[in-house]
Amino acid sequence: MINIENLVNQYLEKDNKKQKEEHSTYSGLISASSLGQCYRRIFYTIHKTEQSNPPDERALRVFSCGNLFHKFLQDIVSTDNRIPERVYKDDVVSVRIDLEAEDAVYEFKSMHSKGFWYMDAEIKNGKTIQEFKIEHCLQVGLGAMCFKKENACLVYISKDDLCIKQFNLKTKDLEPLVTKEVDAIKKVLSVGVLPPPEPRLYGKDKKGNPKECEYCAFKDRCMTEREV
Ligand code: SF4
Repeated sequence: MINIENLVNQYLEKDNKKQKEEHSTYSGLISASSLGQCYRRIFYTIHKTEQSNPPDERALRVFSCGNLFHKFLQDIVSTDNRIPERVYKDDVVSVRIDLEAEDAVYEFKSMHSKGFWYMDAEIKNGKTIQEFKIEHCLQVGLGAMCFKKENACLVYISKDDLCIKQFNLKTKDLEPLVTKEVDAIKKVLSVGVLPPPEPRLYGKDKKGNPKECEYCAFKDRCMTEREV
């Protein structure tokens, strides 16, 4: 009998290797998916610094899960005029969008259904998507600017029950935020020295620690370079 778990693990291992290779050949450009992150984290990524805390097996499985949902959506919505997986690069930025249509780019995000519950709570409290998911807005906004589309759409899909929530944003509303962010990163990079630790995403945990650091692949390295 075949051992399904072993086969899946072997597949994931291959995927992991591919991801590592992608990291080692990283373009050195500002990636749309890094917008909103801690500047020090972006600095490490752009300088291809070795990760002190690379994703563990579970995290890689979660990434693979996300890829499955992306593919699921892309297979359903792609047509001759709706093109999945477009990449844009220039001298400064690198952007991958999940879908390009005539008047919009789309970014797909998969999450646990509890994430939908948190989003609804934020909306009930009067917050906008720009306030509680700024990193996603910047990412899709840069995509829309690079592909010269009027609209930037964020589509969330629940990994538990396939619920979908879509936010249709105007590129002109996001443009000032994106430009400010890219300019700030360019400024940090032009100084050429490691910037101070300044986590900006996800707020703090119950103990008051910045949550972004928990997801950061450079956490231990950053801790030892705190005096810089
Ligand atoms: S560990 Fe935290 S402060 Fe340090 S680079 Fe990562 S996100 Fe920034």
